Amino acid sequence: RQAAYAKLRDVEPFTRDGTRITVMMNAGLRDDMPTLALTGADGIGLFRTEFQFLVSSTLPARERQLRLYRDVLDAAGNKPVIFRTVDIGGDKALPYLHHEDVVAEENPAMGWRALRIALDREGLMKAQSRALLEAAAGRTLSVMFPMVSEPWEFDAAREIFENQLKWLRERRKKVPDEVRYGCMLEVPALAECLDDLIPRLSFLSVGTNDLTQFLFAADRAHPRLAERYDWLSPAILRFLKRIQLATVGHQIDLGVCGEMGGRRLEALALIGLGYRRLSITPAAVGPIKELVRRIDVAAIESAMAQWLANPPASMRDSLSQWAVEHEI
Ligand code: PEP
Ligand code: MG
Repeated sequence: RQAAYAKLRDVEPFTRDGTRITVMMNAGLRDDMPTLALTGADGIGLFRTEFQFLVSSTLPARERQLRLYRDVLDAAGNKPVIFRTVDIGGDKALPYLHHEDVVAEENPAMGWRALRIALDREGLMKAQSRALLEAAAGRTLSVMFPMVSEPWEFDAAREIFENQLKWLRERRKKVPDEVRYGCMLEVPALAECLDDLIPRLSFLSVGTNDLTQFLFAADRAHPRLAERYDWLSPAILRFLKRIQLATVGHQIDLGVCGEMGGRRLEALALIGLGYRRLSITPAAVGPIKELVRRIDVAAIESAMAQWLANPPASMRDSLSQWAVEHEI
C-alpha cells in the first residue's frame, strides 16, 4: 500500500465528480518539512509553533524563531504554510514562564492557555509576530490564532501583528507581500459569533480535537473516555454543518485541522458536510487522497443531509455501509 500511496504523491485529489479537495498536512518541526514533498500534500495547514517553545529550556529569542519560520517557508517552496501562534499553557506548561504567572489549574484545557496567555503577555506575541513577519518578507504570511473564544480576541491579536507591520514599514524593512489572518474554531461559543467574525477572516480552521472535547465535556486525553464519544455523532456533525453554513456566501477558506480529517469515514463525512480543505497528520495524506478520488460529492452530500435531518441509529454504521455500497 505504501507504494500505491507513493504513486498518488503527484496526483491531485479530485473527487469522481470533479471537486478539488485540498489535502494539507500538520507539522511543528523543521524536521517535518521533507514530509511535505514525500506525501505530496498541498501545504501545511497547521504549523504548531509551540513545539519550538516546548523543546527549549528558555524562551526562544526572536532571531531563533525567525530562522525556524524562514526555514519552514523555504522548505515549503511555493506551497502555502499556515502558522499557528503559540498554543502553550495548561498541560503544555513552560518552565520559563514567569513563576508568579502560573497558578495551579484544575482544568488546564479550559485554563490560561494559547491566545489567552499571548494577549495577557504581549511581549510573547510581539516577538512572535515580528519573527513571522520578517521571515515571510516578500512572500505571503498566513497566520492563525488558537483558542479564540470571542471575536475581540481575534481583533486584538491581529492588531499586535498590524502594529509590528507598521513598525517594520516605518523602518523601511522588507515585509510580506500579503498577510492573511485566520482563526481556529475550537471553542463552541465562537460558532455563535461567526456572522460578526467571518467578514474579517481570510480563513477559518476547525480544530476538531479541542472542539469535540468541549462539546462533549470530555477530556481529549482521558484514556477511559477515548472510545466513549464518536466524531461521527449527530451532535458533532450537526455542529460542523452549522459552521459550514455560516461561511456560505463569504470569501473565506474553510478547513478542518483536527485529527478527525485524517480518518477515512470522518473525512468522507466532512466532505459530505461541505468541507473542502483538510489538514491532517502526514501519514494520512496518501490514504485520504486515495479516498477522495473515489467519492461522488453530490451523492455523499445528499446522504449526509438526510442523516442530519433524521439521524440513523448509528451514524458510523450508516456511513460505513454507504462507503461499501459506493466502493469507497
Ligand atoms: C485541535 O484542537 O483540533 C487542533 C488541531 O489543535 P491541537 O491538537 O494542537 O490542540
Ligand atoms: Mg487545539
